[in-house]
Amino acid sequence: MTQYPNMLAPLDLGFTTLKNRVLMGSMHTGLEETKDWNRVAEFYAARAKGGVGLIVTGGMAPNREGGVFPGAAGLFKPEDIANHRIVTDRVHENGGKIAMQILHAGRYAYGPDCVSASAVKSPISPFPPKELDEEGIQKQLNDIATAAARAREAGYDGVEVMGSEGYFINQFLVTHTNKRTDAWGGSYENRMRVAIEAVKRARAAAGDDFIIIYRLSMIDLVPNGSTTEEVIQLAKEIEKAGATIINTGIGWHEARVPTIATSVPRAAFSWVTKKLMGHVSIPVITSNRINTPEVAEEVLASGCADMVSMARPFLADADFVNKAAAGRAELIAPCIACNQACLDHTFSGKLTSCLVNPRACSESELVIAPAAVQKSIAVVGAGPAGLSAAMTAAERGHKVTVFDRADRLGGQLNMAKVVPGKEEFHGLIEWFEAMVKELDVEMRLGTEATANMLKGFDEVIIATGVMPRDPVIPGQDGKNVLSYIDVLRHGAAVGKRVAVIGAGGIGFDVAEFLTTDHSPTTDLPEWMKEWGVTDPAKVRGGLVPEGPQPAPATRDVVLLQRKAEKPGKRLGKTTGWIHRASLQMKGVKMIGGVNYERIDDQGLHVSFGEARETPTLIECDTVVLCAGQLSERSLADALDAEGVKVHVIGGADVAAELDAKRAINQGTRLAASL
Ligand code: NAP
Ligand code: SF4
Repeated sequence: MTQYPNMLAPLDLGFTTLKNRVLMGSMHTGLEETKDWNRVAEFYAARAKGGVGLIVTGGMAPNREGGVFPGAAGLFKPEDIANHRIVTDRVHENGGKIAMQILHAGRYAYGPDCVSASAVKSPISPFPPKELDEEGIQKQLNDIATAAARAREAGYDGVEVMGSEGYFINQFLVTHTNKRTDAWGGSYENRMRVAIEAVKRARAAAGDDFIIIYRLSMIDLVPNGSTTEEVIQLAKEIEKAGATIINTGIGWHEARVPTIATSVPRAAFSWVTKKLMGHVSIPVITSNRINTPEVAEEVLASGCADMVSMARPFLADADFVNKAAAGRAELIAPCIACNQACLDHTFSGKLTSCLVNPRACSESELVIAPAAVQKSIAVVGAGPAGLSAAMTAAERGHKVTVFDRADRLGGQLNMAKVVPGKEEFHGLIEWFEAMVKELDVEMRLGTEATANMLKGFDEVIIATGVMPRDPVIPGQDGKNVLSYIDVLRHGAAVGKRVAVIGAGGIGFDVAEFLTTDHSPTTDLPEWMKEWGVTDPAKVRGGLVPEGPQPAPATRDVVLLQRKAEKPGKRLGKTTGWIHRASLQMKGVKMIGGVNYERIDDQGLHVSFGEARETPTLIECDTVVLCAGQLSERSLADALDAEGVKVHVIGGADVAAELDAKRAINQGTRLAASL
């Protein structure tokens, strides 16, 4: 008997049956734009093989003007069909089903030719859209229908019509962006017409026995967004128009509420989808921050939806469903919702990958093949770099021993996990624990490796990580000065007024830790209050009129850096704004451009500018040093001096801009080559 009876139950769609209730949600990976369609096929085939019920591709433009950016992948030229056929064939060979998402970006199309319901510029794009006339609207709708027909010809099992996240169709639905006074604007009946026509025409063009998913924005999280009543009305019309399934969309891209970041509680929006249950007779899918089989099962068992959509979890682990079905959920590489290698890459024009799984989107390039000769490999350091190297080497058949002086594996992840909003790191550490056990890696924790101990191994990998940088500030030896390690690892007592030196990733984490005693990430009502989210049945768009109301900060914190730029500017592209907003809401003062003069009993003395002007005392009880990190290479250097050849990875290799993404990637790639 499976632990996940709801998640693994088949879903009968009449003309076809999905083997389980798990949809791999649409993600833009950038693979299609490489034009290497075998690589695209390899990516989706691995997920099909891993047991997912239905895959939805990244958004495909139905025409040039609807592309998310100039040159974005689409299906609007007949010659594209053969490329897509490579993908669908490979998915079908691996027992999967795949639908193509038709994504018309409307005013989110990042180019001067973008079009929309009205000429209302989006706050996240510099390009004002052109208001479509009647002929223009007809063209867009017909292009969507043609894309559906071509998708069928290319062998897809269906399409998903993207009607949410603030894209083209969504722009017609709400008065926020639709100011028209003709038959496509004004009343809600008129504003729904584009959505309904898109589905009707796609159905007519693609035929009956073809899956049509409509992604419906169930909470817009923008002013003047839809109400629940309108969502239900639209869903009913979409069913009548011929959709097979309704999927959930949460929040427009321009919303100032995080919707998928790691600090968003798990399944935070399933209650929104639940409101639609019982109002339509076609299956309804829920989405956002569902990342384990337990959460998926709970969401389905509690009647929030008929099916769940997970996207990023399939970057982290292609075999998510098969592992769950085999009762081995502890071996599923967890998506920690960090966005660091997926969305942050997408928005920087880089190919998507995954922090926990560097093979994502590199399936054919980074191959973990059995080793020709079994070696004995020592790894020093049980942080992300060392563990990834150890696991990959063991997977290839090597005999691996890991040393770490700490009693628990995970290295710096053990500090990240205590930061409010970073609870997902617990799951990552637990996964590493399960994997080293599964792969028979010998763990010698609580053991300081010496050069002597490492003799006799065929290969030695040094992943000893980093140590804190000494900022050399007069007075830093005082009792009122702590390092981030004292605070995050050892739980040192911290006063009520705090100055944090260094506004990098760790300075921000420490500030969050020191201002929050109860994590909203583990308390949905509290999190909704923090970000000003409410029931769209009560307020249009689901935004509280008075705005966010976070719990008061537990300490007064000042966060400082020497650079004159805005603190937090270099944090993650898609998550930095959340960290900055979160601390601002907690009243954390952020000051750039300082010189640290000295620390005494009164607090921290700073000055400004090259001339060290405007001496200022930041009165505080505690100063926390988060001044960056340096490589810990003492063992590597000692071995080097003895002529022992070592591989140095992770923070021990390069400390600057170290993060778990680089550490895991480097560890995996090294071990794949040994
Ligand atoms: P970091 O991001 O490089 O920040 C170091 C901070 O220390 C900067 O604010 C820097 O600002 C300051 N600093 C550098 N030298 C200094 C000196 N001599 N005296 C005083 N201040 C000095 O490093 P980190 O905060 O230690 O984080 C380490 C790594 O972990 C980073 O690469 C980070 O990306 C990663 N991390 C990421 C996250 C995340 O949320 N993604 C969270 C935690 C950690 P000034 O030089 O301007 O003073
Ligand atoms: Fe999840 Fe982070 Fe991987 Fe993206 S990079 S899939 S958010 S773990």
